[in-house]
Amino acid sequence: MQTYEFDTVILGGGPAGFSAGLYAARGAVSTAIIDISMLGGQPSNYLELENYPGFSKIGGFDLMEKFEEHADMFGVQKFPMQEIESVDLVSSPKVIKTKEAEFKAKTVIIATGAKPMKLGVQGEAEYVGRGVSYCAVCDASFYRDKVVAVVGGGNSAVEEAMYLTKFASKVYLIHRRNELRADKIVQERAFKNEKLEFIWDSVVKEIKGSDLVNSIVLQNTKTDEISDLEINGIFPYIGITPNVDYINGQIAQDKSGFILTDETMKTSIDGVYAIGDVRKTPLRQVITAASDGAIGAVYAVKYVESLEEVTV
Ligand code: NAP
Repeated sequence: MQTYEFDTVILGGGPAGFSAGLYAARGAVSTAIIDISMLGGQPSNYLELENYPGFSKIGGFDLMEKFEEHADMFGVQKFPMQEIESVDLVSSPKVIKTKEAEFKAKTVIIATGAKPMKLGVQGEAEYVGRGVSYCAVCDASFYRDKVVAVVGGGNSAVEEAMYLTKFASKVYLIHRRNELRADKIVQERAFKNEKLEFIWDSVVKEIKGSDLVNSIVLQNTKTDEISDLEINGIFPYIGITPNVDYINGQIAQDKSGFILTDETMKTSIDGVYAIGDVRKTPLRQVITAASDGAIGAVYAVKYVESLEEVTV
């Protein structure tokens, strides 16, 4: 098994990770980014972003390519497709083991982001890939002229529902309240979309089908009334949960698992920082992830320098 040594190892190659990589490498510390899959993180799947300053409209994949190229310019070493098996964040150096390699680091910056939350209803796991999808951009074309449902009331649900209207003949947006959480500008566009029908005060109780999904069971949250809705596909967009399984309780987290940090992005362990969607933060956007990355990396570099002062 190959062993690598770096001053800073960044776990996760999304916007937070790339921003941290850029700032750490510019701070003249040796820097690596490792990621469970291809680099780019969640935004790589976003069709378009309209709120990243400097770009009035840019594809998520295109923006992440620019982040990566920028980190490359400063010599960040990239290790994609590395599934983390274990981490020892308290030891010195800190150790990250993947299936293929061992990484030793003076500081670790955690930027592993978050993943979609599941509805947790009967049929959901069974029909993944056969009518249940968590990525409209990836799967929308399979639903050309079909009827689909999106669940949730946040920006993701509403934006992805609108995207699906470009393919599907009809899109139901099912929300558990009668008011959306999504930004007002997003809501206004959605209410004008004639292919989008809102089903308010309702939750999904079951996903049914034979080979493929053909209906869902809904429950009205006010009246408890149960009804069947015929659909060909369902896209739950009900929020996100942090990718932290590998941490194994070594770091302070909130009750949902998001990592707690101070304003320098430092976690409860010296030399370990958390940035982007994986940490407890009031806003999860590409710009806030990038901002976290800059702050965390600057303080990680200071930490490396403080270790060097001690050993001189
Ligand atoms: P979110 O804002 O947390 O919204 C989750 C939605 O799902 C809420 O409407 C919530 O209902 C509903 N929900 C939660 N649990 C549910 C359950 N068990 N059953 C049914 N419904 C449930 O999540 P998100 O939309 O994924 O967005 C995550 C973050 O990314 C947000 O900060 C968002 O602004 C950001 N984002 C930004 C953009 C953009 O700016 N272009 C695009 C996408 C996402 P309640 O409202 O009743 O709680």
